[in-house]
Amino acid sequence: MADIVYTYENKVYLNITNACPCRCKFCIRNNGDSVGEAKTLWFDKHSPSFEEIKEALDAFDFSIYGKSVIFCGYGEPTCNYDALIKTARYLKDRGFTLRLNTNGLSDLINKRATAQEISSLIDTVSVSLNAPTAEKYNELCSPAFGEESFAAILKFASECKSFGANVKMTVVDVISEEDIEACRELADSLSIPLRVRTYSA
Ligand code: SF4
Repeated sequence: MADIVYTYENKVYLNITNACPCRCKFCIRNNGDSVGEAKTLWFDKHSPSFEEIKEALDAFDFSIYGKSVIFCGYGEPTCNYDALIKTARYLKDRGFTLRLNTNGLSDLINKRATAQEISSLIDTVSVSLNAPTAEKYNELCSPAFGEESFAAILKFASECKSFGANVKMTVVDVISEEDIEACRELADSLSIPLRVRTYSA
């Protein structure tokens, strides 16, 4: 079984699924089986249940890391939505600060509005914007939902912000300077800060 809890640069991460509706050209999963201190982030068969995640959390020594957890592994966390929400609630009740790194497609993945529930539990939602237009997004990320994906990402990010989450957007520096600037303008128009991530092969 894959590592559920792992650390990277002194932060604690939760890997709760390998499922994802995208195939981003820059996806870190293309480059190896793990990141940070994890041995492998690939699950054998199924995404872990809340009970399995809880067991992994309860066995982990947080004393040197502090009470902070980031949902980010080898898949899109909102693909394991029930476990994500139950785990977030479990950690929140114990005073943890939570961040979700997401592709922003939760509403399409789960076929319903999810921003309010997510924002009620997660402190910071980091949404991968990746591209300045739907066409360029689809070219870079090949989302299973096609054309409607990009608009859904913008809507999800805006709603998370309106429901009180600290929302950020990110792009990876595999796109042109011009596109990064266009992404910054788009994020600005939503009053959401944009962070440019360095691609790591
Ligand atoms: S959304 Fe994230 S996990 Fe999914 S393919 Fe893109 S980079 Fe990889």
